[in-house]
Amino acid sequence: MQNKIYTDNAATTAMDPRVLDAMLPYFLDVYANANSAHQPGRQAHVAVEESREKIAGIIGAEPAEIVFTSGGTESNNAAIGGVLAATGKSHVITSNAEHHAVLHPVASAANRGIDSTLLPVDQTGKVSAADVAAAIGPHTALVSLMHGNNEVGTLNPIDEIAAVCRSNGVLFHSDTVQTVGKIPVHVDALGVDFLSMSAHKFYGPKGVGALYIRSGSAWKPWMEGGSQERRRRGGTLNVPGIVGMGKALELAASEMLENRTHVEKLKHALMQGLTERLGTAVQFNGDPQNGLFNIVNCSFVHPAERAIDGEMLLLNLDIEGIYCSNGSACTSGAIEASHVLLALGIPYDMAKSSIRFSLGKNNTIDEIPLIIDKTEAILRRMTSQKL
Ligand SMILES: *Cc1c(COP(=O)(O)O)cnc(C)c1O
Repeated sequence: MQNKIYTDNAATTAMDPRVLDAMLPYFLDVYANANSAHQPGRQAHVAVEESREKIAGIIGAEPAEIVFTSGGTESNNAAIGGVLAATGKSHVITSNAEHHAVLHPVASAANRGIDSTLLPVDQTGKVSAADVAAAIGPHTALVSLMHGNNEVGTLNPIDEIAAVCRSNGVLFHSDTVQTVGKIPVHVDALGVDFLSMSAHKFYGPKGVGALYIRSGSAWKPWMEGGSQERRRRGGTLNVPGIVGMGKALELAASEMLENRTHVEKLKHALMQGLTERLGTAVQFNGDPQNGLFNIVNCSFVHPAERAIDGEMLLLNLDIEGIYCSNGSACTSGAIEASHVLLALGIPYDMAKSSIRFSLGKNNTIDEIPLIIDKTEAILRRMTSQKL
């Protein structure tokens, strides 16, 4: 993408070329089914198990506690559905700022007679452990709360929440899709029983992820079929994807500090530049100081009039070759405000004026002034200079 600036890394990342190199032999050469008993099958099996060991080691798990899936969405569905099926309990707790891959399976469970509690979040997007404690009852099967929020980057106090769950004998799942590979994620330090991850969020391939299941947890397979994955997830293994995921996480772990230092610098430069140019017309959403180092979510106010149309801003940035995102979902043609920003208590107009720049290791410091210049120019055009 020449002269193009990609700042949508929370949606997906470009594959690292070293990951592609690691995957290539498993398309044309070692293509056998990893569950076949013959020599090439065993070779594929070894590659899968090596990747499982790498991933488990990095998050402090045992290899047998890792189940490969098709990505974050499947892992979340499998955690929620699998615990409800195994425990036979009828209550699940989550928050109203979660990803749809948690909210929608919880809503479907509610249609099948499961009670659900959607905890509120504070104005930064955080759930309090005290609220979790108060919501737990005798029928609670599972608490599912994300680590890093994908829209605003806010981090939940996962260790505190996990302690509350453990002392009440309730299982705890965390959607750690946005944090794995960026900040340390260790299953015992966090205290989780289940966690979800997705390779394409850390420079790995799309369509592959994993669910961590703490040994001994009550859980039933969600995807039934063959005996793959110790009968916990049927389906022929995505060998190149699994190899790629292992390589991608290995790189992300060994280069974590340098990536973080680089991206954090870009985030600060972007926030500082937008503030200098736009003053009070820009408002940063979430927890910009303590949240994830790669996400800048902002809303824009027109001093005299209503909030600026974020969708229009996004389209104009797109025309200029700057690719970012907003949290709005396009439901049957009507653009709605992000449920996450509304959960933070941000007024509807301001929520609809928001855009998310999510930076990554491939962004450069030279791109930041261009993003700031273009954003300012578009905003001035949209408001006839009145900023
Ligand atoms: C991207 C994302 C998902 C979905 O992961 P896929 O691998 O795309 O299915 C789930 N949760 C969060 C927080 C995400 O950012």
